[in-house]
Amino acid sequence: MPLRLSAVRAPKIPRGEEYDTVIVGAGPAGLSAAIYTTRFLMSTLIVSMDVGGQLNLTNWIDDYPGMGGLEASKLVESFKSHAEMFGAKIVTGVQVKTVDRLDDSWFLVRGSRGLEVKAHTVILAVGSRRRKLGVPGEAELAGRGVSYCSVCDAPLFKGKDAVVVVGGGDSALEGALLLSGYVGKVYLVHRRQGFRAKPFYVEEARKKPNIEFILDSIVTEIRGRDRVESVVVKNKVTGEEKELKVDGIFIEIGSEPPKELFEAIGLETDSMGNVVVDEWMRTSIPGIFAAGDCTSMWPGFRQVVTAAAMGAVAAYSAYTYLQEKGLYKPKPLTGLK
Ligand code: NAP
Repeated sequence: MPLRLSAVRAPKIPRGEEYDTVIVGAGPAGLSAAIYTTRFLMSTLIVSMDVGGQLNLTNWIDDYPGMGGLEASKLVESFKSHAEMFGAKIVTGVQVKTVDRLDDSWFLVRGSRGLEVKAHTVILAVGSRRRKLGVPGEAELAGRGVSYCSVCDAPLFKGKDAVVVVGGGDSALEGALLLSGYVGKVYLVHRRQGFRAKPFYVEEARKKPNIEFILDSIVTEIRGRDRVESVVVKNKVTGEEKELKVDGIFIEIGSEPPKELFEAIGLETDSMGNVVVDEWMRTSIPGIFAAGDCTSMWPGFRQVVTAAAMGAVAAYSAYTYLQEKGLYKPKPLTGLK
């Protein structure tokens, strides 16, 4: 049977609708918040560019409690279907630009593609974006051998001779381990001797004969005409520089939050640009809550379980806020089959 046009039409962008809460972001924090807000019988809209957030940059999750170990994509799907089970509506491909207070009861949430909805409360779970090195050649060769996601791009380097991975956190070590199965040689360049990564990852990487650790070192330049051909690395202790002939460089040096959104809203941020929250995930603006990697909470420990926990707490705080303001009107569960 031919597919009817209505069946393939892109979902309508909400305009003029009213919600108890709008959750911005559909990573573990946002989806977890939605599971709780809908269980509190609050009408819930999630607005996000994608579903999964930083989980889309990871292959395997072996420490989410109760799951044993599973593919990150399976965990995303399970968070999403759980949120939808209780009636959360999810709109993707839309970027929220501003949140303005309209009056004592309502915020106006506006975004790309004409999004404009009213909400009693807002939960910001916007995660973070990959940090850049800022060295010559990086911007020019982005997508042509310069990558910010080993998990996404490793297969593209299958059979290549060598790559550099930069960083000393879980992303870099996980990336180096993954890449060691695709390429002949992986240089792991890290700016000091100690690692932020879990010791397990460091030990596994040390056991791989084709991973070489280049420590106390920084990348000063990425060279190549049409694609990456070499990377210049400088030892910070000796000052010695060397040029490594490689086919690519994976920059895995952590992430930073989308500061411009917080500035547009007028929220207090910390020195790293994270939105400041208290232990109940309340921001500096009453009625706006935040959760996950974009917050000032537990900055050195960004895990799926901590993001999910923050989402749950933010949802509870939004629920109690509605009650205290006399705005709580339970909605029937809509998503349950
Ligand atoms: P991260 O933990 O913040 O580590 C970033 C690394 O990059 C650090 O080693 C840092 O060095 C280095 N770095 C930062 N800026 C740099 C610069 N300008 N030049 C050179 N090096 C620089 O980031 P991440 O590895 O992306 O991890 C983020 C969070 O996600 C963590 O909480 C991590 O546990 C979690 N994660 C978990 C998994 C997993 O469990 N499967 C996978 C990926 C990420 P210094 O150490 O010297 O500061």
